[in-house]
Order: sequence, then C-alpha cells, then structure tokens
Amino acid sequence: MRSLQFRMTSWIALGSLAVITVVLLVLNLYGMHRITQQSKKYLRGIASSITEVAAAAGAPAQPIGPAVAATIEEHIAFIDREGSLGAAILAADGRVLYRTRRFDVPIDDGIRRGSRSRLILHSTGSGGAGPAPSSVWRFVFRQEDRGLVVFVSDAHHFELVERLTEGIGVALLAVILLSLPAGYLISRRLLRPFHAIDQAAARVRKGDLGARISLGAGSPEIRRMIDALNDTFAELESSFGRIQQFSADAAHELNTPLTVLRGSLEVALARERTLEEYQIVLAEMLDEIIRLSRMVHDLLLLASPGGADRRAQFRTVDIVPLVAATAERLGMIAEAAGIRLALNQTAGLQVAGDGPLLQRALYNIMHNAIRYSPMNTVVTVTTTWDNGAVAIEINDQGIGIPKDQRERIFERFYRLDPSRATGTGLGLSMVKWIVELHGGRVEVESEPGRGARFRVILPAAPRLP
Ligand code: ADP
Repeated sequence: MRSLQFRMTSWIALGSLAVITVVLLVLNLYGMHRITQQSKKYLRGIASSITEVAAAAGAPAQPIGPAVAATIEEHIAFIDREGSLGAAILAADGRVLYRTRRFDVPIDDGIRRGSRSRLILHSTGSGGAGPAPSSVWRFVFRQEDRGLVVFVSDAHHFELVERLTEGIGVALLAVILLSLPAGYLISRRLLRPFHAIDQAAARVRKGDLGARISLGAGSPEIRRMIDALNDTFAELESSFGRIQQFSADAAHELNTPLTVLRGSLEVALARERTLEEYQIVLAEMLDEIIRLSRMVHDLLLLASPGGADRRAQFRTVDIVPLVAATAERLGMIAEAAGIRLALNQTAGLQVAGDGPLLQRALYNIMHNAIRYSPMNTVVTVTTTWDNGAVAIEINDQGIGIPKDQRERIFERFYRLDPSRATGTGLGLSMVKWIVELHGGRVEVESEPGRGARFRVILPAAPRLP
C-alpha cells in the first residue's frame, strides 16, 4: 500500500501535468492556426503577383522566357529578404513552366492535384537544399488562376510552428521537474495535521496521557477535528485519573476493615479466651464483615454501567409509597436513635425510574439524616411538585455540613469526620449516581449546627394521554 503522501504527490504532479498539457496544446493549436492564416494571406499575395507577371507574358500559351523569369525572381527577392520563398508555375495540364531554385518541394501527383488556394504541409526530408533553413517542413500554397497553377513555398513561417512544438516539450519537462517537488511540498503541508495526530497518539499509547496535538494555524475544519481529538484526550486523561483515584481509594478503604478484622483475630488468638470473650470478638468481626460486604456491594453497583441499558428498564414509580416504605424500613433505626420521622407527602407524584434504586438513594439520605442528628429531633421528608418536576426534600436538625464541604460529600469515600462516622463514605456518591441516572439532580443546603436539607429533583414521569 503506497503512502498517502506518495499518492498525493503523484496526483498533484499528474494533475498539473494534464492541465499544463491541455493549456499548451490549445495555445499551440491557436498559434498554428494564426500562423497558417497569416502565411496563407502572405503567400496568396505573392502567388497572385507571379500569376499576373506570367499571364502578362502570355503563359501558359507562351513559355516563360529568361526575361519573365528574371522579373519573377526579382519580385520574389524583393519580398523575400531571408531567402525562404520558392515558386513554381505549372500549366493547367500539369506541365512545369518554371520553378525557382528555392522551390525544393517535389512536384508530384499529390501536389498537382491539390485544390485551389490550399495550404499544403509538405516534408522535404532532412537537409533542405543549400542555404535554406535546416527545417524540413514547408508551407506550400497552391493557386489556380487564368490557366496557370502557381505554387509558392515558404520555410520561414513554419519554423515558428516547429519552435512552438519544441516549446511544448520543454514546458512539459519543466512541469514534470517542478510539479514533483511542488506536489511533495504541498502534500507534506496538507498532511502535517495527520503527522501531529500520529505523534500525539503514539505518546498517549506510551502512557503519556497529557500529550496533546499541537498545530499552529490551520484551516477551520482541521482545527475543529484537532480540538475534538484534544478534548477526547483530555477526557481520557481525567477519566483515567478518576479511575486511578477510585482504585487507590477503594483499596485503601477495603484495607481498613481487613486490618481491623486481622487485629481482632490476632488479639483473640494471642491467649486462651472465655466463651464470652470469643462471642464479643466474633460479633465485632461480623459487624466489620457486614460493613465490608456492604462496601463491596456498593462499589460493584457504582462500577456497573449506567446509562441507556438501565434506563430501558425504567417503570413508572409512585413516589408516595416509595417514601413511605423507606421510612418504614428506617423506623427501627430512627426509634433507636430517638429521632421522629415525619412525612409530608403530595399525592400523585410519579417518576419514570428504577424503584429499588430510587429507594436506595432515599434510604441513604434519610439514614444519614438520622445518623447525623441528635436525639429528640425530627427528620422531615416532604414530597412536592417543583416546576413540573418531582422534589423530595429531607430536612434534619443535626450537626449540618460546613459550606466548603457541601460538594465534596458527594465524592466517593468522602467523610467529613472519619473518626465519628460509621459509614463507608459511599452513600452520597451512590445517591448522586442514582439521581443522575434518572436525569435529576441532588442539592444540599445546611446551617452547620442546626441541620441539613437535601433536595432530590427528578423529572416527572411523562403523562399518559
Ligand atoms: P457515610 O457513609 O460516611 O455517611 P456519605 O457519602 O453518605 O458517607 O456521606 C458523606 C459525609 O457527608 C458523611 O461522612 C457525613 O460527614 C456527611 N453527611 C451526610 N449527610 C449528612 C447530614 N444529614 N448531616 C450532616 N452531615 C452529613
């Protein structure tokens, strides 16, 4: 497979060669036409004068004597300063009455039978007679008048045509010699963006994700393509960075409960324990294992593909029973924490979604509200319409979230106060993931020390006609 550059160079060279050839051919044909016309006019004048002189001397009835011949020669010599003209006078029956020395075209049947006032292109063969130009071509003009056939030949004008033909050859050679390097340079310039892309892609392949395609000025189309590719590389770099961060965080977070488990086991096995002591250790270990398996489960869910596949399975979900069921699941926990759960619902709210996932999101927010609130406080869940969308609001009277942390709490593994928190730090990132999967958003407002308010906004289910 030939390279694109080779092909472009060839096409540019061949293309310019074809164009120049056509232009030169047209110019040449036009030049020949002009010369022919002029020669014809010029030779017709001479032929007429010779006819005049010969007819005046009684030709073709009378032979052309030395005096008439001298007059004709003189006449030609007067016009023809370069010695390129020759003439022959024939009778209508083909008899040669007279021919000048320079008329070196053989008078054969072909030339005799020529039509009136015609221009004949005739080759005399190389090495034309005597001092005549080295050109082997002649214009021969034939004129029939008053019983005489006069031929006038001219070498000079046709030399020009010959030169034009030679000119075409030289010009084409020059075009070939110039168009190849020009084609090479043009194609190299056109292909420069591809080289830049190739280089950047090679760097990315080697692991340099920060590599970008650098190209100075370029056409808008190329610019757009390069910008799009650079954006893709940037996206790739940032997702790769996120994945790396996620893997590092996940490994770190999974390591903590494992270390706790190992520590507990080592302590327990260090010496003989009573049955009660073993039970306590086992209960602690069970808690850690439950936390560990919850984290693995959450990680698997977060790593699973979202998007179109999941959305295809969305059903109409009624919000009122969903919130009520979630509150019921959390009832025992809330009671144990001394928290009252108050529901303030609007009937008829529906969204298109995945019920269990939505319940999971609500559960996480409501569970947090309970966990981060002191005893004898209320967690209120309000469901309303919000500009045609469905809003679920969870208010608590707990410790609240400092302003600068409000975005970060949605990051994976982020915990405000890890020493106090018992969660995995994955709860809210799961909420964000679920809500965004449903085309919604989650917002948080808080007054530290006085409580937090989480708002989940979901697009309402399309109404059936
Ligand atoms: P966790 O499992 O640790 O609770 P989350 O992702 O659910 O992880 O929450 C991240 C952090 O946000 C929590 O560690 C907590 O500090 C803070 N947070 C979440 N909800 C609340 C709330 N209602 N009140 C105060 N802080 C909260």
